[in-house]
Amino acid sequence: MVRLSNFAFIVVLICFSSFLSAQKFNSYNDGPYITIKDNLIELDWIKNGRDKHEEGQINDTSAFNVPGLPNVNLFDLGFETNLPTEYIDVEKFLAISDIHGQYDLFIKLLTVHNVIDSSGQWIYGDGHLMIVGDIFDRGDKVTESLWFLFELEKQAKRNGGQVHILLGNHELMVLHGDVRYINPKYQYTAGKLNVEYEQLFSKETVLGQWLRSKNIAEKINDVVFVHGGFSKEVLDKEKSLSRINNIFKESITNKNKYKENSNDFTDMLYFENGPLWYRGYANPDGFDVEVADDILELLDAKTIVVGHTSMPKIITLHDNKIILIDSSIKFGTKGEVLISQNDTLYRGMDDGSMIVLGDDKDKGFGSPFNYVYNLGDGDLTIVLNTDINKLISNKLEEEYQDSKLTAIHNNEFNRVWNIKLRSRGNMRKKICHLPPLKLNFPKSTLRYLGFDGHDKLKLVIPCDDSDYAQQGNYKEEVVYRLYELIDSISLRTRQVNIVLQDKKKTKYDFNGFFVEDEVDFSDRTGARIIEDGIIMGPGTERESYLKLVFFQYMICNTDWSYYNKHNLKIIVLPGEKKVRAVPYDFDYAGIVGMDYAVPHDRMPIHDVWQPFFRGKGVTTEEIKMMVEFYNSKKDKLYATINEDKFLSDRSKKQMTKFIDKFYETILNEKQWEGKFINPLPLNTVEK
Ligand code: ZN
Repeated sequence: MVRLSNFAFIVVLICFSSFLSAQKFNSYNDGPYITIKDNLIELDWIKNGRDKHEEGQINDTSAFNVPGLPNVNLFDLGFETNLPTEYIDVEKFLAISDIHGQYDLFIKLLTVHNVIDSSGQWIYGDGHLMIVGDIFDRGDKVTESLWFLFELEKQAKRNGGQVHILLGNHELMVLHGDVRYINPKYQYTAGKLNVEYEQLFSKETVLGQWLRSKNIAEKINDVVFVHGGFSKEVLDKEKSLSRINNIFKESITNKNKYKENSNDFTDMLYFENGPLWYRGYANPDGFDVEVADDILELLDAKTIVVGHTSMPKIITLHDNKIILIDSSIKFGTKGEVLISQNDTLYRGMDDGSMIVLGDDKDKGFGSPFNYVYNLGDGDLTIVLNTDINKLISNKLEEEYQDSKLTAIHNNEFNRVWNIKLRSRGNMRKKICHLPPLKLNFPKSTLRYLGFDGHDKLKLVIPCDDSDYAQQGNYKEEVVYRLYELIDSISLRTRQVNIVLQDKKKTKYDFNGFFVEDEVDFSDRTGARIIEDGIIMGPGTERESYLKLVFFQYMICNTDWSYYNKHNLKIIVLPGEKKVRAVPYDFDYAGIVGMDYAVPHDRMPIHDVWQPFFRGKGVTTEEIKMMVEFYNSKKDKLYATINEDKFLSDRSKKQMTKFIDKFYETILNEKQWEGKFINPLPLNTVEK
């Protein structure tokens, strides 16, 4: 039998051998997984991708101390098993949910809100930290999160505080052996240790016992916490939280006992509408305030706090009666915590600031476009279930029709909306089999879920399901991003996988993109959109004008007009007098290469491959300025095309040819006179 104090030595040996290991998981660590049988302790862990096993007797100083893994005091593995359900006279609490293995962000949130110090020690005094379920699955630092909480729980207790951990559906899934959502790292660990993942949390393990001692619902003062939520149907059958907790402990968290003892009520608690899965409060069509009042009355509480349904921020409903706190920590980028102090509830932000929940400064997360734009990287899929034949046959009418919209981000189900959609787009709705779309969200639903701002989304999809149309769509989206490099006063885009379904049968599955529409654009920039009036040369902000006309020249686009405000938004920025133009719709540009594209009818060119400069009154000085400016953007323009993940090699080649030709021309001063110096006077009105 090996003494447990030899760990440091073992670690050194493993470090040397790891250089020989070239596998995918060669640098990863996991564990410890600790099993206690009689007075014998067994430890398993992974260091640099290799499994290690030790066992021995515990003495007063035994500790698991392996660099890169959580420290565990092996002589102090006890924990409280009869946790109360109710806590009163609590001065302050901080609640967080759906950590999903995002340990670093979890620690950051606790640190900036002074629950722990920079070395992870409890500094929250007699405060209560409430974890509202779903520590497990998705992320790759689940074990770290669990041991951290295991240790923090003891520290809090010593300081008069308390750590509460409520089980979520993902804890239950792992305890029941449903490991569909575990991070690949943990599949690897289970394989290395030659067990099923759930066995690492069996009743013989320390963490398994510890998790099984936890409640699923608790009450602090007059606030009830539960992962999913309580439906009225559940509470009508049983409103005592401690009895519900006991049913979970006695039957539901125990796979075999659940199978033996299940009845209608345990099934109700275990499945979809049970307290760990319920999504009723987050229903986008709203949650009835009277039902909410009934539920709170049954719970004898003022507020119910739930996680489980990911929102971009903490959402409060019905005057803080229902609070949804899953603020999407699972994506690992940002998140919020709910804080109660001095009898006030706050959103605790990830920079440490606090916003009073539900007051004027508790702003929503913006419009649907801002929401999808700010989702960050990752795959976004929108499933639109609508009458597609009607959409196509009515495309010239631009009439709204009903659609269901399901949003999925990084393979995570987000939510289903009842929306309306219609065709849009001047030319494309005539030319294309499938028109571009406008999606219209119900205003009341948006407000309910904490959105504010513009309620519509503009969607550009391929004309049909050919590869050619798909590449055209990619190219057009890239052109929007090329223009963003030229002028920051531009429309933003967000790529999206679009699935068009009719009666749930998929008819089209391709990629498209959302374009920021003018309302979102002016909300963001403060710009005023000029709808009427003729725009004269002297009234335009000159530098932005020059950037624009050179850009259109580069991409071989003549399909725009100041006079008709065609494919240009004419705007005035706050504090400015002169107008600027923001271009959109680039499908007639040579660089996009659609077969229906033709030059603007008054242009002296015959096809869209020929560059034609439409700038007016441009001087040699101005050309010099633009040459310098475009030279400074050259690398980024090329990189945007060449690093795009959707464009085919052929499309990249086609696009870069246009950029090559543009730089060839602007760098050759001899060509300036014929190409750019326009004899027309500056104030010529173009017709
Ligand atoms: Zn959940």
